[in-house]
Amino acid sequence: MSTTETTARYVLLAAACCFVLGLHLMNSPATARRGNTLSAAAMAAAVAATAALLVDADAITATGWIVLLTAAALGSAAGLYAARTVQMTAMPQLVSLFNAVGGGAAALLAVDHLIQVHDPDALASRFTIPGALDIVIGAVTFSGSLVAAGKLQGVVPGRPIVFRGARAVNVALAVAFVAGGAWLVADPGSVPALLVLLAAGLAFGVTMVLPIGGADMPVVISLLNAFTGTAVAMAGFVLDEPALIIAGALVGASGGILTKLMADAMNRSIPAIVVGGFGTGDEAQAAGAEAAAQVRSVTADDVAIQLAYAGKVIVVPGYGLAAAQAQHELGELAELLAERGVDVSYAIHPVAGRMPGHMNVLLAEANVPYPLLREMEDINSEFPQADVALVIGANDVTNPAARRPGNAISGMPILDVDRARSIVVVKRSMGHGYAGIDNELYADPKTGMLFADAKHALAELTAAVRTFVT
Ligand code: NDP
Repeated sequence: MSTTETTARYVLLAAACCFVLGLHLMNSPATARRGNTLSAAAMAAAVAATAALLVDADAITATGWIVLLTAAALGSAAGLYAARTVQMTAMPQLVSLFNAVGGGAAALLAVDHLIQVHDPDALASRFTIPGALDIVIGAVTFSGSLVAAGKLQGVVPGRPIVFRGARAVNVALAVAFVAGGAWLVADPGSVPALLVLLAAGLAFGVTMVLPIGGADMPVVISLLNAFTGTAVAMAGFVLDEPALIIAGALVGASGGILTKLMADAMNRSIPAIVVGGFGTGDEAQAAGAEAAAQVRSVTADDVAIQLAYAGKVIVVPGYGLAAAQAQHELGELAELLAERGVDVSYAIHPVAGRMPGHMNVLLAEANVPYPLLREMEDINSEFPQADVALVIGANDVTNPAARRPGNAISGMPILDVDRARSIVVVKRSMGHGYAGIDNELYADPKTGMLFADAKHALAELTAAVRTFVT
């Protein structure tokens, strides 16, 4: 082994250790930034070490280098531009697109390698089995993540899209996976076998995500993220590249754990979500139609009086807070109330917003002290003691319809906002949340609706509460 190769291998090993450490640092909001920086630096070092290995082995022609560097420059520029310019509310779509790119790239790596080598002696099943898995999982991730991004962006309808014979199609695709995999093991590098696997994987990604709707999208996004990592780890086995195996396994395992946590939080089983077909929402629609007729509208001044003289206020942030970018105004109002001696805390539902941890990130931006953010299981018992539950742009995560069967959010644990002494909901209209069903909380006699954009309403509330201070 040359000195360059030895050094590069050590750098790759060190990078893999830094990935583990980086992930560990992300356990706490206080160290998460450092974890991110460390992991990014380790990835840059791993890329440099891989380039050194390629130069050392003289593995790439001059034209190959031009293609590689041009692609890397274009990819990096596009990624950097997208990450810097994306609106916080569009972040989940971007993450989904990144998942698609990661899964697609991993699948193409295996396809390329198996075609190039195409030698039954060199391609033992220790390469072809992970190769088949890589292609299938990568292709499922690619098409599934594109459909998920489309749903989040509103390009593809967010409601469950169910078609006749979907089960039969899924069974046929499962047969194609097994047949294509066996074919590839028997004839490594067979192009028709690769095409069967790719086509079946792409089709399954679409049939898996289309029927998922309502409130189940967070679980599927997290699952696709885990798939990306698994596909990358499989690519590592195909190329015999330990750093790729470690990085992929970390993403796959952490994504898998997150998926399990999200599914538990939503009271769902992962296989049930993947197979699809949750409630229709009819029952909640009917209840909601009645609700629309009965809502009580309130003014900012009414709410300001309620808040200023409350002993305990629980704030329930949701997607609308992110859409309005009203986190700073909310932080300011909460600080003002705290100065008046009001006990203010924030109830964080695990799927509030449009990505895992969305509300935590948003409120951290406004420097809300982390201990004030309380998880659902922890704070639900405190709603009966709250004088005001202040719901800002949250909808599905507060909808009591979840406690009944037969609708799109049935069985999902919710924040027990309806058990507070009084409720104020800030939103612009009677519009639905992501699950597309009406919220009967709005017809509760204890609920006052403050119809306004969250940013505007919070600024008005702060100004009004300030008049009580001066
Ligand atoms: P919802 O999507 O249920 O509701 C958001 C509400 O915000 C809407 O009803 C809307 O009403 C209101 N709103 C929008 N813009 C504004 C604004 N500018 N000012 C004030 N209000 C506004 O949000 P939740 O957070 O309650 O629930 C999240 C939903 O998203 C769940 O169903 C979850 O499953 C799903 N989801 C979550 C993901 C995650 O990882 N967290 C990923 C994908 C989906 P109006 O238009 O009347 O103002």
